[in-house]
Amino acid sequence: MSKILKVKARQVFDSRGNPTVEAEVFTKKNSCFAICPSGASTGTYEAHEKRDVKNKQYLGKSVLGPIKSINTFISKKLVGLDIHNQERIDSILINLDGTRQKSKLGANTILAISMAVKKLSAKEKGVPLYKSFFVKDNFKLPYPLMNIINGGAHANNGLRIQEFMIRPDKAKTFSEAMRICFLVIKQLSKLIKDRGLSTSVGDEGGFAPMISNNNQALDLIVSAIKKAGFKNGTDVCICLDVAANELLKKNKYSIHSSKFISVETSINEYKKIIKKYKIKSIEDPFAENDWNAWNKLMRNISKVQIVGDDLYVTNLERLKKGFLNLSSNAILIKLNQIGTVSETLDVIKFAQTIGFKTIISHRSGDSEDTFIADLAVGTNSNQIKTGSLARSERVAKYNQLLRIEEQLGKKARMNIIH
Ligand code: PGA
Ligand code: ZN
Repeated sequence: MSKILKVKARQVFDSRGNPTVEAEVFTKKNSCFAICPSGASTGTYEAHEKRDVKNKQYLGKSVLGPIKSINTFISKKLVGLDIHNQERIDSILINLDGTRQKSKLGANTILAISMAVKKLSAKEKGVPLYKSFFVKDNFKLPYPLMNIINGGAHANNGLRIQEFMIRPDKAKTFSEAMRICFLVIKQLSKLIKDRGLSTSVGDEGGFAPMISNNNQALDLIVSAIKKAGFKNGTDVCICLDVAANELLKKNKYSIHSSKFISVETSINEYKKIIKKYKIKSIEDPFAENDWNAWNKLMRNISKVQIVGDDLYVTNLERLKKGFLNLSSNAILIKLNQIGTVSETLDVIKFAQTIGFKTIISHRSGDSEDTFIADLAVGTNSNQIKTGSLARSERVAKYNQLLRIEEQLGKKARMNIIH
């Protein structure tokens, strides 16, 4: 047993330059800190992110309140607890909050501590973080879902779909996956430049050229894949995050153009682009409350990964509902949507039991913290979504996976995706 000595929090900044919570947990010999990320296209059912809305010093965005809570009464409640008893610590945090969506203390307050505890437990045991989750051997590396063109709430180009991603299915190793993505991204950069467009990047590191038509973005990616020497749909697959919550008005969606159309017409349009561009994964194709639309889509298409992000918000109850409703076949996992490491692990385990693919994800506002890279390997998650090969807060996660791959040596295997 190794006891918690104290918890110390401080306000740091995320990749969008907004204040966020960093919590540092101490035992007698060691300490570890963790930083909470922050989303932009958030789901209504996500756990609450607490900010000092009335304090105008940081335009209402500071987290000095959460920091104070940690440094005063929360730290006191955790002193003396066994650092290895993650579930007990998380349940104390959950009970201290006592609300359904962690609105009293804030999921950002709680999660920073929960992640730091997990890191410190691994450090005290002298094991790498990825070995401290529930997978004990036969570790597998996740396929990266690299977001190479940014739109929606993550850019200001008017693209309706939020994320245009590539997944290097051909790769047999993680380093090879990185090389394939690197080659496609370099070609894409050239193509964008040749068209006289800007190669500046959006919040998740993908290019954010001033194009507003989905098909234009998809055509560019298909050309880049081809020019890099790969075959679209087999070697490299296009995957989308529509983030459709943002595109709904009076039961109609403006996913495919600025025109709002019915669910049925939207599904037909989805079918067309799936066929034309060989799309293999679509996240949040419809809004978080539109369970019928999700089910209709699932019954109308096959061999496409349908991923629930805002739909499930890493929440076990919502995942169970989605399973019974046949809403999707995969779930996006974001620690700060639910607020503790233990609850996140419960959701991953349940998802895997029902045969769903699990995809560990960053947030659009992220940090240098690489916790999710270890989480992906330590939970046998099939894929990881952590931006493009640009912006260090994104690349840091890929670099950590390269380190893990090297540590695993000959035992390193890629996960399955099909
Ligand atoms: P967010 O975007 O972090 O802004 O919510 C990521 C996503 O929708 O997957
Ligand atoms: Zn999403």
